Amino acid sequence: MKKLKIGHLYPKLLNIYGDGGNILTLQRRCEWRGIDVSVDEIDVGDDISEHDIYFIGGGQDLQQIEVSKELQRHKDFLTGERDRGCVFLGICGGYQLMGHYYQPHEGDRLEGISLLDAYTVAGNKRFIGNVTAKTEFVEPKTLVGFENHSGLTYLQGETKPLGTVSVGNGNNGMDKSEGARFKNVFGTYLHGSFLPKNPHFADYMLELALGEKLTPLDDTIENCAHKALINKPY
Ligand code: GLN
Repeated sequence: MKKLKIGHLYPKLLNIYGDGGNILTLQRRCEWRGIDVSVDEIDVGDDISEHDIYFIGGGQDLQQIEVSKELQRHKDFLTGERDRGCVFLGICGGYQLMGHYYQPHEGDRLEGISLLDAYTVAGNKRFIGNVTAKTEFVEPKTLVGFENHSGLTYLQGETKPLGTVSVGNGNNGMDKSEGARFKNVFGTYLHGSFLPKNPHFADYMLELALGEKLTPLDDTIENCAHKALINKPY
């Protein structure tokens, strides 16, 4: 089995509400299976080499300004990584920058890198609370977490929702969509962090990146956490 390379984009700037736990989950679920895995932290000013999985966490508008500028340097490379099938996961602020742009309440529009055909504009209220979404990509067909964002994200073209909210607001509180997928690029508003409470989605990402089915792990504890959050009131 090949060595899995994970690139963690701008963890010093975009890493709120425990989003770094997503990296730990991917790393541990490989190590528990004896899969050779490495994690590279990619900071402002660094060059980016090829990886199998890229992760970018959430953050406040201020940190997004710096990452938005830095990401433009890597737009063509990361688009090539998307097109050769690499797996991406962006959470909230990182998700917003994987679209075309994020227009905050004040100041200039923050340019994204258009890995997703989506755009985000700041709304008048902040969405904060538990989210349950139904998804078709994994079994069980549920994803859980919590949201904390004012950005309203709208999907276009071939970019489809990751799921449909049954509790919470998701992308924009209006069309019931949560998150996004195009090719193997995934975005979600679910903090928590997301993957420890959704181990089935973590394994789905690993299988896409490795190109093979993985042996199941004993997810008794993770599944208890997942079930405890299904339809938890907002
Ligand atoms: N600053 C963005 C917003 O408020 C993203 C917030 C986040 O990453 N939690 O929508």
